[in-house]
Amino acid sequence: MNADRGLTSAQLALFLAWLRPLQQSLGLEVDRGFQNLQGRQQRFHEFLSQQLSAPPSIPMPRGAVERMDRLRDSFDGYPQLTDAARRRLVSDARQWLYELRHRLEPSAPMAPPRLKLPTASGSQPREAPSLDLESPITRIKGVGPKLASRLASLNLLLVKDLLRHYPRDHVDYSAMRRIEALVAGETATIVATIRRCNGFVSPRNPNLAILELQLQDPTGRLKVTRFLAGKRFSSQAYLKGQQRLYPAGASVAVSGLVKDGAYGLSFQDPLIEVLENPTSPVKSASIGRLLPVYALTEGVGADRFRSLIEQVLPLTEQWIEPLPEPLRKTFGLLSVSEALKALHAPKDRTTLDRGRHRLVFDEFLLLQLGLLRRRQALRSRPGPELGLLPSSQGLVKDFKDLLSFQFTDAQQRVLREIEADLAQSKPMARLVQGDVGSGKTVVAIAALLSTIASGWQGALMAPTEVLAEQHHRNLCHWFPQLHITVELLTGSTPRPRRRQLLDDLASGSLKLLVGTHALLEDPVVFERLGLVVVDEQHRFGVHQRDRLLNKGLQPHLLTMTATPIPRTLALSVHGDLDVSQIDELPPGRTPIKTAMLSAGQREKAYALIRDEVSKGQRAYVVLPLVEESEKLELRSAVEVHAELVSEVFPDLQVGLLHGRLSSVDKQEVLSSFSSGACQVLVSTTVVEVGVDVPEASVMMIDHAERFGLAQLHQLRGRVGRGAAASHCLLINGSSNPLARQRLDVLVRSTDGFEIAEMDLRLRGPGQVLGTRQSGLPDLALASLADDAAVLEDARTAAQDLLRDDPNLERCPQLRALLDDQQRRLSGGTPLN
Ligand code: ADP
Ligand code: MG
Repeated sequence: MNADRGLTSAQLALFLAWLRPLQQSLGLEVDRGFQNLQGRQQRFHEFLSQQLSAPPSIPMPRGAVERMDRLRDSFDGYPQLTDAARRRLVSDARQWLYELRHRLEPSAPMAPPRLKLPTASGSQPREAPSLDLESPITRIKGVGPKLASRLASLNLLLVKDLLRHYPRDHVDYSAMRRIEALVAGETATIVATIRRCNGFVSPRNPNLAILELQLQDPTGRLKVTRFLAGKRFSSQAYLKGQQRLYPAGASVAVSGLVKDGAYGLSFQDPLIEVLENPTSPVKSASIGRLLPVYALTEGVGADRFRSLIEQVLPLTEQWIEPLPEPLRKTFGLLSVSEALKALHAPKDRTTLDRGRHRLVFDEFLLLQLGLLRRRQALRSRPGPELGLLPSSQGLVKDFKDLLSFQFTDAQQRVLREIEADLAQSKPMARLVQGDVGSGKTVVAIAALLSTIASGWQGALMAPTEVLAEQHHRNLCHWFPQLHITVELLTGSTPRPRRRQLLDDLASGSLKLLVGTHALLEDPVVFERLGLVVVDEQHRFGVHQRDRLLNKGLQPHLLTMTATPIPRTLALSVHGDLDVSQIDELPPGRTPIKTAMLSAGQREKAYALIRDEVSKGQRAYVVLPLVEESEKLELRSAVEVHAELVSEVFPDLQVGLLHGRLSSVDKQEVLSSFSSGACQVLVSTTVVEVGVDVPEASVMMIDHAERFGLAQLHQLRGRVGRGAAASHCLLINGSSNPLARQRLDVLVRSTDGFEIAEMDLRLRGPGQVLGTRQSGLPDLALASLADDAAVLEDARTAAQDLLRDDPNLERCPQLRALLDDQQRRLSGGTPLN
């Protein structure tokens, strides 16, 4: 039977009864972050698989049953899927179910209502032709000085600024529904008859009036509630007047968000318009439409702004297209003009998506062009010519012989990639990404030794003094045996020593300098700087990178990050670097067991610590802040330390490490922890990066909800470095289910990339990179979490464009945009 002929209303009801719980549980799974929700009886995937194997017995469109079978099979394997694959599967399923519903509904007897919309261009005369994109907005009809100044506060001065003020979102009221077919959580429009209208003052709040409409259509009934806040609405006269506006028997069109409440589905504060009769057109420019929502300011109403946009929208025709035609074809892009129209006044979802796609593409393209041109510039300067020995000979080989272990294959490969760069006369700009504990440091040291062996100097920069000191200490194990000089320079290096050290550096007798960003300061002059290694690169911004280059140095640059960031973010921030990946951990590591505990379960954590210490292991207790902050109710490191010393572990040595200690004191604390003189280390996040004590087997993190996921993963990486089984205990001090859900990602996954991806989704790129990161592009529309595919396209396009035409001479428009962007990023100063 041909399903497209339409279902009887009984069949439709059957179908919807089957579909609704499916859609609801899929929606819930999305909200809860794809954790395979445990329902009352079943897990999410079991429920899906059961529903999909029992479709309603109604005529289905061709292929639907097969598709359902395939989906069911996929959901059977859901528990084994990664988060990313879960997300894909769930969104496939949702999309397909929507399509199915769409196929089955329209021609059914209870087809959704129709609504006549006013035509967008209206019948009013169009704007005077004298207006163009560069016209000040005061020239637009109806924009007086007051409105103009309010718009100016949003940086909207010219007509083109208005068009570039993208909607921050869209609400989709275009889905016309019968009442029976409404689904909680979706926005929709119905046409229905008023049965009753009640107006009353809220029993709890004398300044809140409530209007309740009971509506019905041929398929069911529905309540609509409107809240009217303010004294004037609470008068009986006003309420009476409102009730008269909505007489029983009248037809209304209602657009809004469907909510699920104690008394079934309802609309809360929707748009309502009374219609002369069910088939007459609505007057509202919002009801029944896919509507842009703008970020606006006090005194600029949404409707007002939309009508301004509508007036100037035809002017997009004048927008000069910056992209060459063939490129647009290759990547299936609308023109800018079409895209702007699609974004501000979308006909439907598909058009909107295509418009957004084009504009997102532009943002990424400019970003990538900027980065790639930077990279070209970097490469075009001469770098130090090292004349390298193969690493199987000389210093690097001696160094490897000193180590108690063999390089992993991944370490070998990355070292080869680095050495290939060093052998060239162009300066290297390479990023080494690797999960915590993957052994980046020894690779960097090998690269430094190669450099030194060929007669050049090296610098190793770390983000904190603790880490710089640790690097220095490690190097002091090896370098004297290799007869190489190495010194430490930090903010707290005493002046006389500093002077001596700088002299040795300038004369070339000092081969390797380790330090914090003090290395970037002016008096530091190298004789022949060949290679700079920057550890934990995400802590250094692009500006610091530039500072090094601006010292007139063109050394090879190797940056290392232990916070793997999602590829989209890496391409956006480090797109001017080559990337090497150490994607293998050294053998013999036992996986870390991660558990989440509530604040009340601290005792459990302490018991575990006691247990581990009795086996000869050590433990970190990490806290978010140094001093008690009453406001945040955070247990401070100082206080917890006192408590552990006096009450919890009176028989153990408990050390305290935080950023306010002098560098000597920090050093002392760390070395007593690393020697085992102290077994428990209470610390703030100074231990986050790089601290390496193989005997530590417990990482307890208090108020874990205060940290970012990537940061927690970093912290966790401080344990599990030896052969003993290690534990990470996350104390969740919050009752917020979102906090729980976030921390749960860590309990489930040990893959730094997966965690970073989730962090990006949950907290956004700014948070993931940390506030000190200055290289983050400002993207108006594009999302690094959702638009990965567009970013890849844009990167390819940028490479293609620059390959044939490095100065973009054939795309002057694009070139101008790029120059403009560069000027803005560099704060108006020309690049040198
Ligand atoms: P990260 O990548 O986090 O900076 P490190 O370089 O600090 O990692 O290395 C972590 C630990 O693993 C160190 O103790 C280091 O000596 C050790 N290590 C490095 N490479 C290897 C290897 N190939 N085999 C065994 N241990 C290694
Ligand atoms: Mg490291």
